[in-house]
Amino acid sequence: MRILEVKSIIQPNNNFNLYRGCTHGCIYCDSRSFCYDVGDFENVGVKKDALILMENELARRRHPALLTTGSMSDPYVPLEKDLKLTLGALKLIRQYGFGISTLTKSDLILRDLDLYHEIDKRYRAVVSLTVTTWDDKLAKQIEPNVALPSRRFEVLAAFKQKGITTGIWMTPILPFIEDNEANISGIVERAAQSGVQFIIGFGMNTTMRPGSRDYFYQQLDRLFPGLRHRYEKAYGEKYICPSPNQKKLQELFEKLTSDKGIVTKQSDMKPFYQKKADAIQLSLF
Ligand code: SF4
Repeated sequence: MRILEVKSIIQPNNNFNLYRGCTHGCIYCDSRSFCYDVGDFENVGVKKDALILMENELARRRHPALLTTGSMSDPYVPLEKDLKLTLGALKLIRQYGFGISTLTKSDLILRDLDLYHEIDKRYRAVVSLTVTTWDDKLAKQIEPNVALPSRRFEVLAAFKQKGITTGIWMTPILPFIEDNEANISGIVERAAQSGVQFIIGFGMNTTMRPGSRDYFYQQLDRLFPGLRHRYEKAYGEKYICPSPNQKKLQELFEKLTSDKGIVTKQSDMKPFYQKKADAIQLSLF
């Protein structure tokens, strides 16, 4: 663990991260890219006086808003069990009447279920889990230090039961590893069973940049010998690396989600991120 000196916590776009770096070990992690300058990625940085800074920032705001967390680092890294910074931030969010949208892969979020429920009653809570495969065995290889997908679906079902808006971020879909019909239909099927309202996808692809590419290729050599050469041949130095099956898989994804009534278009997700009372009122007109 390292301590980071920072001047503020909540960014102008309402996103915040209390930690820097992550120990979940996903082989495809974009946050490892050098452009983010995270440093020693697995030596997780903890922002000094994070909750004091956050409280000052919340107290200064005139209007409550929905805050987001989980984009660059998982708010439920194992350190959170002891440090309880995310827990503290949620308590502040409840106290000041803000909303929260959290993205994680960890079942530690269940610890805070009641807090999310209270925030949801006053403003709005949205809980999203990233799922790139439904296959626990494969996930243990490519996302080794975090909850298995089967557990993530249980987590989503538990939040859904409390009336909280839930969704999945289905990204990346790794070419030659996860880009098959069984994987896409398996994810959508389990998503529907756990009651999610939306699935956010960014196409049937992965991304690679300096830093993330090097790490990904090292892990491919270890886990899937020979596959690195297929990647190098297909994508070279490209940033976006689409599956050769992308068209077929995208069509399948759209059909299955539409059949199950799961929202996938960003424009249709707006109500999920509004204050609950406002969204209900708007839907009446
Ligand atoms: S959970 Fe997110 S931030 Fe952490 S290693 Fe995986 S992809 Fe990276």
